[in-house]
Amino acid sequence: MRIAEVHIYAHELPVRNGPYTMANAEVWSLDTTLVKLVADNGLVGWGETCPVGPTYAPAHSAGARAALGELAPGLIGAPLLQPRVLQRRMDSLLNGHAYAKAAIDIAGYDILGQHTELPVADLLGGAVTERVPSYYATGIGTPDEIARIAADKVDEGYPRLQIKLGGRPLEIDIETVRKVWEAVGARARLVADANRGWTTRDALTFSHACRDIPLVVEQPCNTLEEIAAIRDQLSHPVYLDESGSDLTSVLRAIGANLCDGFGMKLTRIGGLQPMSVFRDICDARAMPHSCDDAWGGDIIHAACVHVGATVAPRLLEGVWLAQPYVEGHYDGDNPVRIEAGHIALPQGPGLGVRPDETLFGAPLASFG
Ligand SMILES: [Mg+2]
Repeated sequence: MRIAEVHIYAHELPVRNGPYTMANAEVWSLDTTLVKLVADNGLVGWGETCPVGPTYAPAHSAGARAALGELAPGLIGAPLLQPRVLQRRMDSLLNGHAYAKAAIDIAGYDILGQHTELPVADLLGGAVTERVPSYYATGIGTPDEIARIAADKVDEGYPRLQIKLGGRPLEIDIETVRKVWEAVGARARLVADANRGWTTRDALTFSHACRDIPLVVEQPCNTLEEIAAIRDQLSHPVYLDESGSDLTSVLRAIGANLCDGFGMKLTRIGGLQPMSVFRDICDARAMPHSCDDAWGGDIIHAACVHVGATVAPRLLEGVWLAQPYVEGHYDGDNPVRIEAGHIALPQGPGLGVRPDETLFGAPLASFG
């Protein structure tokens, strides 16, 4: 079974009650990229990649499409039965651009699952649960507003809250976390995510000021070097997100004891195949981690839930989906949805999601 056709689509995803804010970005609408692979036996698989604007990661939507256009001609005839071979084929065609390769990888697994009549989770080693926990990311707002959202989300059933911080006076960040802690206490696990936005001084001041609050500090500073410099002085565990850019940086961070866990994104690491390697590295060193993506719709959401369902539950920090922030679904019959802070594993072979492709219009480019 080999790739016969590659089709690339662009699709606009409006942000519900926008904008969504982080330390270095404000997002009103997302420009997602979908990939449809057609196998030589007629099976169709879907993949997706959706950078959250051009400043969050070294990735942007036009870059994803340019990289896919560069890859696609060389992928005609590539094998679909062997995901690792497909990854090597992509690496032989284009250096880097893991976030674009992820869309091909995901579509390949979708086809392989249909061919073998197995859900993607089984192809990745097997689900250990039918329902994965999610977590809620608050966005940046006033302390009272964020505390109110936090309490609402815990009432809704979210077991974990990620409070977005950074990009403003540090005292407001500290007050926000204090108010959230007063509002929800130990009812949810707390993460303070500065999205690279703090200096080492800010991170130390924050951590010392919030020493009495059990929380995880996520990606406080821009670089691994900055985090390494303050790691031993922080009062909290540290997770890496943006700095866990590939398997090499993950191995380096674990080997040098630079972190206690990871926020990981499926597209950043290059798709389901490298994500399953990451999962197993983390398992070997008992490193908790999430299985997220930047943004996107039902396709990327389904992929994140499938891999999340294969993670040892004690190490799974949740599957973050943009679903609560995005209008509409690609698959009206089997939408991937967060309910009571958890997500049901999509059923059926492959990703378990069949998009209504009329939503995406004509492909931007077709190969094969
Ligand atoms: Mg993060």
